Amino acid sequence: MTEPILTQAIQLKDAKTLPPMTGTKVIKSTCAYCGVGCGLNIHVSEQTDKIKVSGDPDHPANYGKLCSKGSALSETISLEGRLLEPEVNNEAVSWSTAITETAKGFKKIIEEHGPDAVAFYASGQLLTEDYYVANKLMKGFIGSGNIDTNSRLCMSSSVAGHKRAFGSDTVPNCYDDLDHAELIVLIGANSAWCHPVLFQRMQRAKENNPALKVVVIDPRKTNTCDIADLHLALNSGTDLSLFNGLLSHLAEHEKLDKDYIDSYTEGFEEAIAAARKDAGSIETVASQCGISTEDIETFYNWFANTDKSMSLYSQGINQSSSGTDKVNAIINTHLATGRIGKLGSGPFSLTGQPNAMGGREVGGLANQLAAHMSFGECDMDIVSEFWNTKHLAAKPGLTAVQLFDAVAAGTVKAVWVMATNPASSLPNADKVKQAMEQCDLVVVSDCVAKTDTLDLAHIKLPAAGWSEKDGTVTNSERRISKQNAFRPLAGKAKPDWWIICEVAKAMGFDEGFDFTSPADIFREHAALSAFKNSSSQKLRDFNLNGLKDLSDQEYNELKPIQWPIVNKGDIGTSRLFAKGNFFTPSRKGQFISVTSNAVANRPCEAYPFSLNTGRIRDQWHSMTRTALSPRLNLHKPEPFVQLHPDDVASLKLNNAELVSLSSKWGSMLARIEETKDVKPGACFVPMHWTAQLSSKGRVCALVNPNTDPVSFQPESKHTPINIRAYKPKWQGFILSKTKLNLNQLEYTVDILGEHYWRYEIADKEMSLETLKETIKEQIEVAPLERANISWQEHQDTAVELLRLACYQNEELLFVAMVQKNAASLPERVWLSSLFSGIDDLSKIRPTLLSGKPPIGIANIGKQICACFNVGENTIRDCISKKNLQTASDIGKACKAGTNCGACVPELNAILAENKAVLI
Ligand code: SF4
Repeated sequence: MTEPILTQAIQLKDAKTLPPMTGTKVIKSTCAYCGVGCGLNIHVSEQTDKIKVSGDPDHPANYGKLCSKGSALSETISLEGRLLEPEVNNEAVSWSTAITETAKGFKKIIEEHGPDAVAFYASGQLLTEDYYVANKLMKGFIGSGNIDTNSRLCMSSSVAGHKRAFGSDTVPNCYDDLDHAELIVLIGANSAWCHPVLFQRMQRAKENNPALKVVVIDPRKTNTCDIADLHLALNSGTDLSLFNGLLSHLAEHEKLDKDYIDSYTEGFEEAIAAARKDAGSIETVASQCGISTEDIETFYNWFANTDKSMSLYSQGINQSSSGTDKVNAIINTHLATGRIGKLGSGPFSLTGQPNAMGGREVGGLANQLAAHMSFGECDMDIVSEFWNTKHLAAKPGLTAVQLFDAVAAGTVKAVWVMATNPASSLPNADKVKQAMEQCDLVVVSDCVAKTDTLDLAHIKLPAAGWSEKDGTVTNSERRISKQNAFRPLAGKAKPDWWIICEVAKAMGFDEGFDFTSPADIFREHAALSAFKNSSSQKLRDFNLNGLKDLSDQEYNELKPIQWPIVNKGDIGTSRLFAKGNFFTPSRKGQFISVTSNAVANRPCEAYPFSLNTGRIRDQWHSMTRTALSPRLNLHKPEPFVQLHPDDVASLKLNNAELVSLSSKWGSMLARIEETKDVKPGACFVPMHWTAQLSSKGRVCALVNPNTDPVSFQPESKHTPINIRAYKPKWQGFILSKTKLNLNQLEYTVDILGEHYWRYEIADKEMSLETLKETIKEQIEVAPLERANISWQEHQDTAVELLRLACYQNEELLFVAMVQKNAASLPERVWLSSLFSGIDDLSKIRPTLLSGKPPIGIANIGKQICACFNVGENTIRDCISKKNLQTASDIGKACKAGTNCGACVPELNAILAENKAVLI
């Protein structure tokens, strides 16, 4: 039996503060998940090979802190579900065959249809070295620009906005600025859930400086609002009016930095004229944005009067059909006030993925060439000369949505997907899936065996997982950190860079890909960044000249460092542009005139709701890793749709009911989470569920494929949809000691728990008798010896009610709770806890089918704290018994919120609710 969750979590926390135990080696690495880029200490026991993960106290991104996902990394590295051998047409083959078949397939299509008939679709999960060789192969030697990446879905509007304003894709500031800011504006960024360690840093900054003000600009009231002095719940897509209004306000109230504007920028007059015309009066802005004039004035006055202002933005800005303009509207306000690249002030784009920035650096986006160079003549000459190639791509390639449209149209005939899952995560995902189904050659390299995309692959290439890879990643603040392997390669898995280089060599490109290690690749990548990039002229922002001669040992021991690093021994660069020196031809920052555009797909009679998508606290992307951790599955276990109570009432629906969501592009099922956190007419659905864990939970099937005209980033934050009741014959859940196959059911969600599997189920057609047979067949022939099995059963066909439990001797094997309506189903959490082993099942068995704990048996309730698995009932109990007043009090009483702190906003919400009840 594995250790209880609580013990594991305590060990994880203790590992931060205790020195390594005897017999434990500590390896430094970086987190596999978000763009904060937290440093890790991996404690590997030399005797047992067990590992513990703790935050690296010396890493400047996190100073020892981790969020729930980072803390659970050690729970996600088993061989369970790994792709361990290369496969061609679902048959295991040798690496030699897999490489030959991949190279042959690509070569044949290139010979017959030209280089633009093939494409790579890469990922912010790749390490920079992997990305570098993938980009070099496609753009440098195959000769097509057709390599794009899933970073197109999260960052490309920021890239485009940076390049328009700065002449380069440069983030001007760093995380330290959060400690010095006096105003932090978070725009379209739920950092409490999506960048939790940075959120904690902002929380601490506020505790240290009570004068620090935080403004959250988001149509939803997210957990990030927990630290907000002001929440502007603007109408979806109206950010341009708000920021054009701010620029006008700054000019009107003489809050501009005229010296900065005159000395270091161009285009102000045009931009302010456009902003004035677009925004109009404060009243007009208020009416456009759906917020009060008082709140807008408060925000404008705070910004106007606070020199140390940071504007942090993320997907709420980027994932829009006018994302690039929105980025520039924000940057305009910082250029106008000279608040850029200074201590505590600047615009700051928060990246989504661990190496989105590294991908941008190597040229992983189809419209970039390499090392932040573009497809201009001069840059193309530099790259051709450096790579010693005559086949450099002559033009930008297809961006993500265009690329899979081309696959659907048959003009791209071979695609290699690396470490990502477009069949589930691209907008209009059903079309993407169909496109790959009919594509001549689909190659997928990934570390897991099954994803919605791998299911469509002709060739599967097993790639190294996070714990097995060496290389570098770059976080949101331009900081390059080393990721180090601490486990051997699983099965026949190989690092991505090796796979790509072998395919390149098999295609005949021996010389350019004769790398023997990631260090070799990194040196070339750094050298390219410095090639014809004189330090005196500062021609290009991205310059790793100081790292191009690292020895293998220096590379392996590389400490986190922010580029540009112009000379060997430099400590890196924290901030840029405080004194101009932009990378535009004139060396001046550019104001961009932007005006509000009509949203292409507006809600209408047929599709009256606006769908917003995003992340949840404890899951990462398509859940291939985080769903392996039972404690990460408890907070939000099932696809849900947040809806305002007025909408729930007007649709004649109920909280917790399953509903059908549909758009022009696709449909899904989700459970209603009624909340005033979303505005009437708006709804929010998480992005994570795929067909692997849910039969009908793929939200990207609904998302519109509309893109920004400059960045080509899809508009994932706004799709008109319809919501209708889904009226199943019966619905409920199953808890089972063993994994079941319930593919016959219409609605299923598979959730891995601690010692059990939970299945949320519903069906419109199937009879309870058929359901019972389906279950019993599997339980009675399950892998374990099934002797001494006994069943408990209660059925009431009039209300489609079925209660079923199965025991082997005195061990609980299985529970099913099914009925017509969702509302009165028993609590899942208590029943689930019975699978972790209880002292005396005989006390519970007589009443188990009621689904209620007998008096005196504890029920922790819905999970709030993932690190210590503390439930809502436990927290409420502590509050009332001990008269607790603060989240810190709760932490002292039951540990909730004391590790990663991600649940603190929820603790505060429970406290507030409790106080309201008492009043
Ligand atoms: Fe990983 Fe969490 Fe840090 Fe992001 S904030 S890098 S997910 S530990």
